[in-house]
Amino acid sequence: MVGPVSSELFKRAQDLIPGGVNSPVRAFKSVGGRPVYFNRAAGSRMWSVDNKEYIDYCSSWGPAILGHSHPDVIEAVIAASRNGLTFGTCTPGEIYLAEQICSCIPSMEMIRLVTSGTEAVMTAIRLARGFTGRNKIIKFDGCYHGHSDAMLVSAGSGLLTGGISSSKGVSQQIASEVFVVPYNDLVSLKSIIQEHGDSIAAIIVEPIAGNMGLVLPKVNFLKGLRELSDLCNCVLIFDEVITGFRLGPTTFGNLCGVTPDLTTLGKIIGGGMPIGAVGGKKEIMQLLAPLGPVYQAGTLSGNPVAVAAGIETIKLLKSTNPYSKMENLCSNLSNEINDHCKECGYPVICVNKGSMFTIYFRPAPVPESLDDVKRSDTKLFARFFIKLNENGIYFPPSQFETAFISAAHTQEDISTTVKIMCKALDDIFKGKDE
Ligand code: PLP
Repeated sequence: MVGPVSSELFKRAQDLIPGGVNSPVRAFKSVGGRPVYFNRAAGSRMWSVDNKEYIDYCSSWGPAILGHSHPDVIEAVIAASRNGLTFGTCTPGEIYLAEQICSCIPSMEMIRLVTSGTEAVMTAIRLARGFTGRNKIIKFDGCYHGHSDAMLVSAGSGLLTGGISSSKGVSQQIASEVFVVPYNDLVSLKSIIQEHGDSIAAIIVEPIAGNMGLVLPKVNFLKGLRELSDLCNCVLIFDEVITGFRLGPTTFGNLCGVTPDLTTLGKIIGGGMPIGAVGGKKEIMQLLAPLGPVYQAGTLSGNPVAVAAGIETIKLLKSTNPYSKMENLCSNLSNEINDHCKECGYPVICVNKGSMFTIYFRPAPVPESLDDVKRSDTKLFARFFIKLNENGIYFPPSQFETAFISAAHTQEDISTTVKIMCKALDDIFKGKDE
């Protein structure tokens, strides 16, 4: 499947870099084979080191909402770089980006820029603990919030006991402070709050889950989270590292009318450069050092080049407003896949929201939790992925991810992709690919 140059590079990488990758999601472990190496991307396309062209639906895991290498963003990065890559001092750009983000998200009264989504979440959790004087956290099964210790916890044996660490190196003590609840399950959440409400510092959630595949919140789920957070006086954190600026030039919280206390951002707000942000209520944000006693710092926080890319990206998103175009393309793709699968009787369902979609190798109904998602046939997905890859479609290499459409995708891209996908599905279900 993979070309000779990629293959050779991966061999070299494995000697020096654990698993050959600098982030495990890039490995092709769950689909088999070796990763493809890329060295160029523009618009909806990426080109591998083996000179193969792909239509990209991974979108660098979300940041590339304008398509790759948007000329205005590249120009902004070049101009900022010419003035210096980093100063370790205050810069005007960081204020402009902060003003721009906060004016798009009314619940963000103050904001702190950091370098990644992981850092943003880690800071939000520390702030919640500092603000409430409590330690325990509630998260939802299947949501991913970066790789800080407290977030690498999965459901334990019982709902009312804490979770278990999902990574070696995370102590059981840390895991025991985190309760893990099924996504969309307000009844279970209520029972934890009844039992442990006065020790809960925060409830953290992806308001639209994108890290177990795309799973949408049920009506009133997010509103219920707000009410239960208020009931136990804990901090409600919406992790919008994926969804921030993805469905409109704001957060999903703002679009759906549920206001969290803190929001975390990343990906799109850096326009492809490393960035993260945490923001929200002034009374909580003011606890951050140097104003307050909750410590957080970063050598490259608010890096001027990343900030320049972010400013330009948000400016373009606001001025060009590509959201309904992306949504139309995404629902065209999703509808065509669903129609084809229904007609042919394939147990496959495509779920979409805005410019995000996941093709699940499981029959309807639409998954509402990690347990539902896990009923997908990952072996069939792997065969589908390989077919797409062979035919020039670059897809996230796991069943449990969301794919993205960018502002640079065209209806022609979508039609080409649908044709390739339908043929791949036919081959798989009619056994022609074995
Ligand atoms: N939160 C969510 C919802 C994410 O999807 C991710 C990464 O995919 C993170 C946090 C962590 O962000 P980063 O990879 O920038 O550390």
